[in-house]
Amino acid sequence: MEYEPVMGMEVHAELKTKSKVFCGCSTTFGAAPNTQVCPVCLGMPGVLPVLNKTALEYTIRTAIALNCRISEYTYIDRKNYYYPDLPKNYQISQNYTCLGYNGWLEIIFDGEKRRVGINNVHLEEDAGKNLHPEHGGSESLVDLNRAGIGLMEIVSEPDMRSPGEALAYMTTLKNLLQYLEVSDCKMQEGKLRFEVNISLRPMGSEKLGTRAEIKNLNSIKVAIKCIEYEIKRQREILSSGGKVEQETRLWDEATGTTRAMRTKEFAQDYRYFPEPDLVEIYISKEWQEEIRKNLPELKDVRRTRFIEQYGLPEYDAAILTSSKPVASYFEECLKIYNNPKTTSNWIMTELLRELNNREMEPDECPVSPRHLAAMVQMIDNNIISGKIGKQVFAEMLESSKMPEDIVKEKGLAQITDTGEIERVVENVLSENPEAAEGIRAGREKAMAFLVGQVMKKTKGKANPQLVNKILREKIHS
Ligand SMILES: [Zn+2]
Repeated sequence: MEYEPVMGMEVHAELKTKSKVFCGCSTTFGAAPNTQVCPVCLGMPGVLPVLNKTALEYTIRTAIALNCRISEYTYIDRKNYYYPDLPKNYQISQNYTCLGYNGWLEIIFDGEKRRVGINNVHLEEDAGKNLHPEHGGSESLVDLNRAGIGLMEIVSEPDMRSPGEALAYMTTLKNLLQYLEVSDCKMQEGKLRFEVNISLRPMGSEKLGTRAEIKNLNSIKVAIKCIEYEIKRQREILSSGGKVEQETRLWDEATGTTRAMRTKEFAQDYRYFPEPDLVEIYISKEWQEEIRKNLPELKDVRRTRFIEQYGLPEYDAAILTSSKPVASYFEECLKIYNNPKTTSNWIMTELLRELNNREMEPDECPVSPRHLAAMVQMIDNNIISGKIGKQVFAEMLESSKMPEDIVKEKGLAQITDTGEIERVVENVLSENPEAAEGIRAGREKAMAFLVGQVMKKTKGKANPQLVNKILREKIHS
């Protein structure tokens, strides 16, 4: 029997506010463990949370951009559980009401526009991190720097039917959150995490199958691998007449499989109740309007601007603006050295390939706009060729050294000394007299061969224009 996968997703995005959502502690990533904590986020008795207005505004901004209806009045709830990484033993979240609900996100899949329903968008707080020492000891440590950082949860409807569609949803959502400037979505820092609900049903059936929920997927690539595995696992169970358990599963990166963590808990297990320490939130129509009017420049506007302002082809503009950090990287490069088309070519090929491979954001890349702009300038000034540029780019990626230093250290500068090129050309011509004869007889193809030979002997460093010129002079003299 043919089965159809049905998927929904919960996406957690850490808000990029300067301070945590209920206290004044810093949210900067990478500080020494437990240095960004206070009695509130440590869960000491008798403390009182104060809601961060910016965190609230970012969540509303996201809900508006996801075409949600905004609740005029909402409440914050307590979700009770026991986890060592959240010492107060409850998470401040939203259960009975949400800031935004009934929205949608437009994705492009298989060349067609589709809408994925957004069930709700709500605000909560992040937990700390349990650290298990690498030496394999039995102890666990806890870092509470992350506890209490504002977290936005975006819950989709079960509207996705294939891994490809899930990929389009995750990528589009990530790009939107970055354009909205509400989260930097750095997956390597755990700032964007995914949970997938997935079930299979016989093709053509309307009834939903029993679903499994896979938690804590910390990158888009991992989420896709997990979805593919889970579809296969459930299909095998159903095909052999078995039943899929409703349960929460964990992805195991080492084995590339999922395993059962616990049977699915239900809302009543958390004993949700309205948080007594926080007041009801009122979001006036005027405030909503103000947020809507002040949305940052979004993708389509920026794409049009790139075509008009920099004279870029539509194709380039679409690729560069598909991610806001990439678009900003491009503009940073131009501020240093203004050659839009060549800069765009380097970003679309070398830079994007590396960013994708490493699931990295441009500002995490060792090649900064300063590096790339300097390299493009060196190519324009004929100090290096585009081909050598690729070698320099790879080196910058490794060492983060500036291109002029790499060129100097490795002796990659172009040979523009005519005398030196003439010597190599003469050498090549004496080794290949029939090719030179061919050109004199009008067979232009041989020219590319000879240029290639000269480039080979100079390890790609000869200036190609000069090589061409000198070759022709010698052949026809
Ligand atoms: Zn704190």
